[in-house]
Amino acid sequence: MKDTIEALIELQQVDDEIHGQQLQRDELAANLERLKAILVRMGEELDDKREKLAEATRFYDEKQEDLQADSDRLSRAKQKLTAVTRTKEYAAMQRELDTLRRKFGEDEQEIMRLAQAIEEYKASIAAQEAKLADLQGEVKREESASAQRLGELDSAIQAVASRKKEITVRLDDQLARRYSRVLRKREGKAVVHADGGKCSGCQIRLPPQTFIMVQRRETLEACPNCQRFLYVTDSTE
Ligand SMILES: [Zn+2]
Repeated sequence: MKDTIEALIELQQVDDEIHGQQLQRDELAANLERLKAILVRMGEELDDKREKLAEATRFYDEKQEDLQADSDRLSRAKQKLTAVTRTKEYAAMQRELDTLRRKFGEDEQEIMRLAQAIEEYKASIAAQEAKLADLQGEVKREESASAQRLGELDSAIQAVASRKKEITVRLDDQLARRYSRVLRKREGKAVVHADGGKCSGCQIRLPPQTFIMVQRRETLEACPNCQRFLYVTDSTE
């Protein structure tokens, strides 16, 4: 029985190692996922800015055409004005000229605003492109570092798996299955110490008779509350 208990304790240690390696694996994967998600988001922001730039450029071209048309209309109006002789007609032409001049001025200002916006978009896009390039480099470096670390973890996991097999051979099949079941149900802890008469898995105080049996190491005892296998360490005997 002593050997069975020893084997269970070793098995738990091996499973703790496996759990730790899996955690590291998950962490590596999660870190990469997070970086890639940032890349995607930055790419989307960039597309959005490029779209706005294209739109501003389109407006700018349209306004340039408007301005050209304004200018044509203005020179035609000025020409007409020189030909006008009647006062009433002259006043009307003057009003039209004023309106045209105002429209010209407004279009000019709009063009200036658009030109400024275009410059701002361009600067912002350039900055974002630089940031994106930096991050892409970082992701690449992380990926190759992670690939190496994953390779190391894989060989470590393999080594631990073969050790687990060796230990499991020392248990009968039924007990090995029971161990796996408890491990699965109890957050990866199937074998816990009962030092001081308490189950260190679920913290309940064990019935005195159970604790005495655990200390004797002649039978395999489990916690009546959480079903984890119990053992005592030498220091508390
Ligand atoms: Zn318990």
